[in-house]
Amino acid sequence: MRVAVLGSGSAGNATCIEGGGARLLLDAGFSCRELAARLRAVGVEPHRLDGVLVTHEHADHVRGAALFSKTYRVPLHCTAATFRAAGLARAAPNGHGAHAHLSVEPGAPFAVGGMTVAAFPVPHDAVETVGYTVSCAGKNFGYATDLGHDPEPVRRALRDCDLLMLESNHDLDMLREGPYPQVVKQRVLGRHGHLDNETAAALLCDVATERTRRVILAHLSRTNNRPDLALGAARREFERRGRRAPDLHPAGQAAPSPWFEV
Ligand SMILES: [Zn+2]
Ligand SMILES: [Zn+2]
Repeated sequence: MRVAVLGSGSAGNATCIEGGGARLLLDAGFSCRELAARLRAVGVEPHRLDGVLVTHEHADHVRGAALFSKTYRVPLHCTAATFRAAGLARAAPNGHGAHAHLSVEPGAPFAVGGMTVAAFPVPHDAVETVGYTVSCAGKNFGYATDLGHDPEPVRRALRDCDLLMLESNHDLDMLREGPYPQVVKQRVLGRHGHLDNETAAALLCDVATERTRRVILAHLSRTNNRPDLALGAARREFERRGRRAPDLHPAGQAAPSPWFEV
């Protein structure tokens, strides 16, 4: 299995996963055209995808989902509530064979090619936000962005993954002293907002095991964070606990990452 982040942050999130003879897009938060361009940039023809997994209905995760699904005839996988909330049926009508919606439920894993996908509930201010784990040939990839805190189901799902992609959204001081209006600051800081660097670092240390070789720090705020701060927080926390840190990579917004082998 291998993973390429096509882009991550509040301007758009999308990640491509390849394994077991299949390819998945995880979130589709760029325009259809941009998704296709970024996929081609990492060597994947858009019509060769086998599914688009959506986490929740915020635009930075679904912007191009319906049109991409319709244009390239790729089924969408998300919860029924997210499908409704995102208006995905209107944006890509059924009946043209151009798209299908496959309903995802936390606790009900499903197969796409040789990959097994499982959703788990995530606390965030959307109707039914989920994270995903994808397993293939004994390797596990865990994905959670957009979470206000880290309850047990999230910890359980992310434990013992070979590759983890976890939100490290903001530096607390930068957010508090930054330009966001107070109401937005409170939303981001809330129990259904986004993870700050220190909380993400602590969660990471709790769920990472010997097999967790690599971690992608995702959804970094352009206004309230910097890659060196997110990386520093994670490194410090591993050091504080006397553990060797996994390879840490901050995900960028502007361009796709290289492929990471899981
Ligand atoms: Zn987001
Ligand atoms: Zn969100």
